[in-house]
Amino acid sequence: MSYPCNLIQDLLPLYIDGVCSEDSKAIIEQHLSECPACKEYYASMCDAEEIVIAPPNAEREYKKAASFQAVKKKLLRKQILIVAASIVLLAAIFFAAVGVLKKSVNVVEYDDNISVSMIDDSLVGRLNGSRATYIKIKRVTVTAEGQEENYLFYYVSDTKWDDLTTNKDVFSEYVLCPADKGADQIDRVYYYTGDYADIETMSIDELQEVIDASVLLWSK
Ligand SMILES: [Zn+2]
Repeated sequence: MSYPCNLIQDLLPLYIDGVCSEDSKAIIEQHLSECPACKEYYASMCDAEEIVIAPPNAEREYKKAASFQAVKKKLLRKQILIVAASIVLLAAIFFAAVGVLKKSVNVVEYDDNISVSMIDDSLVGRLNGSRATYIKIKRVTVTAEGQEENYLFYYVSDTKWDDLTTNKDVFSEYVLCPADKGADQIDRVYYYTGDYADIETMSIDELQEVIDASVLLWSK
């Protein structure tokens, strides 16, 4: 123990900070290995150093930061919930709107989009540009000048949904009168979008008004 304890203890802070010279370092280590008192002092300084490293308000700062993180997390969670709820709501509105559009049935007006032809002895109607969801057909037998004639009156309906979502390439074909139900006896097919009540029992004059309001799609 060639150096006094006071000197070693004065140098210990430099040693702990690692800023003393190699010579001082060797002397201090030599001394510490031989002097229990300085060794204990050194140990207590190291403990103290640890406390010094963490300033008194560090914990509070840490807590503040942690609570800030928690608030940020909470806000983020809230935003995610709002976005998710909005998506669910929009989806619900979308499907409700689609449902309404699919249920709203409209009579399709004639606009060069409807035709009739005889295919394999059946009368087949065709709707271009949409899908037929409902077809109203009535067969009327008229007797004019002793001659019996059979007319088919009909109209098709589509949904607003089909109206909005189909293009020109879409079409529907539907049998208006099959071969085994006497398609060969039909003389004319009219497209009529008016009132079908009592159409079978009308007088010739009344029926003429219906015919005037119809489009002749096909005749024998
Ligand atoms: Zn000592």
